Amino acid sequence: MSRLDELLNFADTVKGFMPRLEGLALHDHARDVARARPGGTWLEIGSWCGKSAVYLGAAAETSNCLLYSLDHHHGSEENQRGWAYFDESLVDAHDGRLNTLPFFQRTIAVAQLERTVVALVGHSELVAAHFAQPLDLLFIDGGHARDVAWRDYERWTPKVTMGGTLLIHDVFEDPRDGGRPPYEIYLDARDSGRFVDVASEGSLRVLRRVA
Ligand code: SAH
Ligand code: MG
Repeated sequence: MSRLDELLNFADTVKGFMPRLEGLALHDHARDVARARPGGTWLEIGSWCGKSAVYLGAAAETSNCLLYSLDHHHGSEENQRGWAYFDESLVDAHDGRLNTLPFFQRTIAVAQLERTVVALVGHSELVAAHFAQPLDLLFIDGGHARDVAWRDYERWTPKVTMGGTLLIHDVFEDPRDGGRPPYEIYLDARDSGRFVDVASEGSLRVLRRVA
């Protein structure tokens, strides 16, 4: 089996919220970016246990791109105890908080992507204020609360290069399928004239920066 097939199969086994078809689409669009712009800098907001980082990292390593994977690793609102997406096995016995960092590190180590995927551990808005590197690819998959999603959108999308790719996860047109904020920021990206639609797969939207 090729390295690529191994990585994509492995990604499918990692704990997370990315259906395989969406993961493969994420990978395919990242491959296009890797081909067009070797050596570029990429960033994803929302690492969790590293599933999307493997799909993206498998593309990044084909042309020496670097993926920063940003997360405070304590989970979003919907991941906390009592909420729909709570997972007891991710709780750190030391302080009772969720901590996905050890799981993320293990995923990236097993995938042998430690020279391609670099963890940025902290709050998105704090890191954004001190991050000046232009991004050829930005994947927004962080918190879905309205203020959190909008802050990610407003602080990070200006860093996407002209012609660069913006991917947004959990975009649901129908409110019955999921929360509004990712859909709202997707609409704003399009309606602002700064981004155009390139493709979609499930709840994944792919856009390109044009202005
Ligand atoms: N991309 C992942 C899933 C990410 S889940 C995968 O494919 O599996 C969303 C993540 O966003 C959670 O891990 C949560 O800790 C993180 N997050 C939420 N709000 C954040 C913020 N303000 N700063 C940094 N990370 C945040
Ligand atoms: Mg998601």
